[in-house]
Amino acid sequence: MDLMPISPTPLYRLRHLEELWDHDRIYIKRDDMTGLGQGGNKIRSLEYLLADALNKKTDLVIVGGGLQSNLCSLTAAACAKLNIPCELIINCSEPSGSQGNILLERLCGASLRFIGPVSFQERNRKMNEIAAKYRDNGIKPYVIENGASTGLGALGYASAAIEIAEQIHSLRTGRLTLFCPGGNGGIAAGLIYGNLMIGCPFDIVVVSVEDDTQTLKSHIEQIIQDEERITGLKTPCAVSESFVLTDEYRGGGWGIDSKESLAMVEEFASSEGLFVEKVYTSKVLVGMKDWIWHKSISGPVCFLHTGGIGSLFAQY
Ligand SMILES: *Cc1c(COP(=O)(O)O)cnc(C)c1O
Repeated sequence: MDLMPISPTPLYRLRHLEELWDHDRIYIKRDDMTGLGQGGNKIRSLEYLLADALNKKTDLVIVGGGLQSNLCSLTAAACAKLNIPCELIINCSEPSGSQGNILLERLCGASLRFIGPVSFQERNRKMNEIAAKYRDNGIKPYVIENGASTGLGALGYASAAIEIAEQIHSLRTGRLTLFCPGGNGGIAAGLIYGNLMIGCPFDIVVVSVEDDTQTLKSHIEQIIQDEERITGLKTPCAVSESFVLTDEYRGGGWGIDSKESLAMVEEFASSEGLFVEKVYTSKVLVGMKDWIWHKSISGPVCFLHTGGIGSLFAQY
């Protein structure tokens, strides 16, 4: 699959932030620059999922998400590039304008279906019902489940772990701790699995933006089992000891700001000229800053920027 024409994504130091936060080495891994649409982590999952869709001679890709879903807009962009029709099942009422990701989705030529403010379980049910109708009419749909955080989708971050390890190695910077977000757990599961398979050359802290640690941990472990099943390669040692998971920075949960995460959007832009949004990436930075200031983490740290810029324009 060729969704990432520019690879690897850059990894480099944030010198102004090092000064402001008084820490020796702070790096960023620019997965907001995955090179398609507005960029972001979902491109790495889509590399695997859409390859599967093409192998299965799919006529139509169906994906679900909330109003400002980054997955929906990146799937729309990827399908445009691959010339496959794409239908987005969005669980909210149709908004009046085209803000943020909705604009990008329309520009990419996806069809948007608004199913009203229902739960994500109901959205999944609806998605499968729609897919079944297409099948009855002789059309082969490919349904992207669980926010693309499936075993197959997570393999994108297993290979990203190798990419990151190579970049760290050439920096000769010493043992580094990578901070990544935990939503449905696909990024985390991919990174943890990939890192374990190459002997854990770096440490991982997963910052939950949604669930409590126990719930997120069980999602991650489930996805890792799926990865093992798909690749036929088991992790060489216990998964649960190979990463740290924290739910301290999720505020009120998914999409609900904390005072700190709101302030971080501005702090990051005004110090580095780079943008994070409020749902995922700002909370990871809040966690990383707190580890530097209050948990006296020593050694280099790296912020995995997973993108989401499309939604920022609809968040204010
Ligand atoms: C979807 C998304 C995440 C969460 O990824 P999971 O694999 O579900 O944990 C993080 N950051 C951004 C910008 C996203 O769009």
